[in-house]
Amino acid sequence: MPLTSLAFIGAGGFLSPGGASGCLTVLTYHRVLPQADPLQPPDQIDAASFDGHMTAARSCFNVLPLPDALDMLEQGKLPRRALSITFDDGYEDNHSVALPILRRHRLPATFFICTGYLGNGLMFNDVVTEAIRRAQGPHLDLSWLGLGMRPVSNIAEKQGLSKELVQFVKYLPLAQRQATCDRLWEACAGQNARPPLMMVPEQVKDLAAHGMAIGGHTHTHPILTKIGLDEAREDIVRNRQALRDITGSTPSLFAYPNGRPNTDYTREHRDLVKEAGYRAAVSTAWGVATRESDIFQLPRFAPWNVSPTRLTLQLLKNAHKGRQAVSA
Ligand SMILES: [Zn+2]
Repeated sequence: MPLTSLAFIGAGGFLSPGGASGCLTVLTYHRVLPQADPLQPPDQIDAASFDGHMTAARSCFNVLPLPDALDMLEQGKLPRRALSITFDDGYEDNHSVALPILRRHRLPATFFICTGYLGNGLMFNDVVTEAIRRAQGPHLDLSWLGLGMRPVSNIAEKQGLSKELVQFVKYLPLAQRQATCDRLWEACAGQNARPPLMMVPEQVKDLAAHGMAIGGHTHTHPILTKIGLDEAREDIVRNRQALRDITGSTPSLFAYPNGRPNTDYTREHRDLVKEAGYRAAVSTAWGVATRESDIFQLPRFAPWNVSPTRLTLQLLKNAHKGRQAVSA
């Protein structure tokens, strides 16, 4: 084992203790791209980097299935340097790229699946990114969005515009968001079919068959605070039933879409998730889970496309500094 790994393990025992004062680092990934893609945001990593992350996770941390880790957390029995791996949304590359890497490293993970996009669906952020990828330069007329003529003649311009548009449409009411994405796609890609980026139900079933945990992530990925409570309840319950139909077992863990406490969900949504029958939920608030954390609002850590050494340092710092209670 390299000396750096031994040093991290030694420091990790102090910074990320076990037992009653134990803490659990929960990693969040979305896509694992076959190759790096400059149009994707920096938290979307590629296969080679993900492989490096998993090497670091396996050599410096005790990687646990999230359901087991939560049992140990509640019982005060977490090992030192406890870590769980999660994926949000249900991307096809989770099955075709991430699963083989996880299996090679013998690592467990939890996949939070948004059921409404399985098959031929495409999440709004991907409609935007894939539309802008196909835009013909030198300019794209976005005056219908109040954004004027925007340059799209090179990757840097497309990258900037894609990022801006994802933020722009993210908080639009659902119907308006959909209509905006449809119009943008037509403006950039005409009648061309959208790329199939999400898993099909059989792939979700196959993840479960390989011992991976499957969790809920709503049916249509709404920002919960932007829809009515009844609509939110329906979306959460529909997703849970759909996952039960696919895998044959009812999911016990949930991840809030976008996941920022008091912004993307509130205490009322937390209670809806509990009422739906879930035993725990994760947010995207930064930090580590401790026995003081609300089990329905566990914080996570989203690693960017950083080197394995940098990731390990970030995770140990997160374990030491991220012990804040999250509440909505
Ligand atoms: Zn999501």
